[in-house]
Amino acid sequence: MHTIPKLAVLILLAVIASAAHAQPKLYHNANIYTLDPDMPRAEVMLVEDGLISAIGSEASVRDAMRVKGIRVIERVDMHGFTILPGLIDAHGHMVGLGALGLGMLDLRAAKSYDEVIKIIRDRASHVPAGTWIVGRGWDNEAWQDTRLPHHAKLSKAVPDHPVWITRVDGHAGLANAHAMELAGVTPATPSPDGGEILRDQKGNAIGLFVDKAKSVIGWVLPAGLTGTTEEALLRAQEMCLSVGLTGVQDAGVSPAEIEVYKKLEAEGKLKIRIYAMIHADDAPAYFEANGTIDSFKLSVYAAKAYADGSMGSRGAWLLDPYTDRPTGAEGKPYTGLVLTKPKAIEELATHALEYNYQLCTHAIGDRANRETLDAYERAFATRAQLPADASSDPPDPRFRIEHAQLLNPDDIPRFAALGVIPAMQPTHCTSDMRWVDDRVGPERAKGAYAWASLLKSGARPAFGSDFPVESHNPFLGIFAAITRQNLTEQPTGGWHAEQRLTRQEALRAFTIDAAYAAFWETRTGTLQAGKLADFIVIDRDIMTCDPLDIADTKVLQTISYGEVVYEAK
Ligand SMILES: [Zn+2]
Repeated sequence: MHTIPKLAVLILLAVIASAAHAQPKLYHNANIYTLDPDMPRAEVMLVEDGLISAIGSEASVRDAMRVKGIRVIERVDMHGFTILPGLIDAHGHMVGLGALGLGMLDLRAAKSYDEVIKIIRDRASHVPAGTWIVGRGWDNEAWQDTRLPHHAKLSKAVPDHPVWITRVDGHAGLANAHAMELAGVTPATPSPDGGEILRDQKGNAIGLFVDKAKSVIGWVLPAGLTGTTEEALLRAQEMCLSVGLTGVQDAGVSPAEIEVYKKLEAEGKLKIRIYAMIHADDAPAYFEANGTIDSFKLSVYAAKAYADGSMGSRGAWLLDPYTDRPTGAEGKPYTGLVLTKPKAIEELATHALEYNYQLCTHAIGDRANRETLDAYERAFATRAQLPADASSDPPDPRFRIEHAQLLNPDDIPRFAALGVIPAMQPTHCTSDMRWVDDRVGPERAKGAYAWASLLKSGARPAFGSDFPVESHNPFLGIFAAITRQNLTEQPTGGWHAEQRLTRQEALRAFTIDAAYAAFWETRTGTLQAGKLADFIVIDRDIMTCDPLDIADTKVLQTISYGEVVYEAK
């Protein structure tokens, strides 16, 4: 129901902010993909005051210039390089990415638990005893021994520093003995609702804290371990611009982080377009008190809820038990974790409809997806009873499901039918395909990362990476989307190849359809006259090159609102 800003308002905003833009620039000798279905290719593009004022063939743009009375221009020779609309990551975590850039240990490349321990011991030898060591990205599924780690080995190697390292999916963390001591963990510490403290036979914690149990350690972690929020956001912004992202949808921020974004924008430091989803715990009160924000670079009109955990940590909520863990602690069938009850999602959805914000719910398991769709459906039905608001715009809530990883075939058409956007991450598929069959068996796996089926049903998937869970580089996502292979081109033909997308479809999901998921489609996502000049220059033609070469694409320039915000050295 969030109303799309009128183009005139946007242009006014653009002109106000455009003092720096002087002469119109004519980008020529370029290989331009516009993503505009009416004119997919163009030769030249005229950029004026941060907006695309004309695009098309040399002749048509020259005609447009004559009509506008433009005589003096700066010609920019693109040397035949490819130009694309700026890419948009529809689901990432800016502070998490920035923290990696600022010294949080990156454990994603470690090939074994021993290697993880070595990295931590190295860090421990450089910082005083008692200093927290934090890291993220370990992935037991990528180790030779894929069993979940036990803290004992780590605690022995690093006894004098509290250690907290989160798993690659962010849904589980490993603490050493020192950290658990600071947190006061004993065999009597209960697992909170929606979380689990994993224990041995004797009831002692083995160091692993899943989903909501992570807060047991989280509450003793000092703030600002890896720089301030502002430092982390600026570092993440730099990282994103350098891989061709002109927009990021930040999937879960606090009101305090919104204040930092606002400050950065006021100071002219926000170069990337941010759409921020406020944590569901804070969102209702926030929107009631503050309303929504739709400024030039910052959009705040969304809430982020969690229906379940992740498939990797077996926290995803399934319709039927896990294939590789059919029974849980008390011998009952084990189907994963419920992080927010469906009734609470429905209440949140109803509140969102009333206060004009978008609801984005993390749902990974087939049960979590079904329950979330059901909750949305019930809320949409209630909306008919809400008092009619003054605006004449038809309602357009565009609620989202983040990840939508495992779907029962019956639920696939419901996305399009309800107007719900699946916000998906192609590299999750190519990382997870090693073990998805183990978790859910080959039959259910047919509904995993079902991009092509969703597209065919009329839904509009929006793509992202879930960085720093996966790399923030969107070209890896495009490669994964069109091949469903890893970077050694395995498996041959692609994993469940029927769900691959074409290059055009993958690119749409990282541009105009990602824009649509944030109500940005009138301002960015395609290269069309009147839209913001958000585009990138890359070193190869990703629509024609060898698929594997897409993964190595180098971004030469990133341009946001006509301004060069990144340039390759
Ligand atoms: Zn996420």
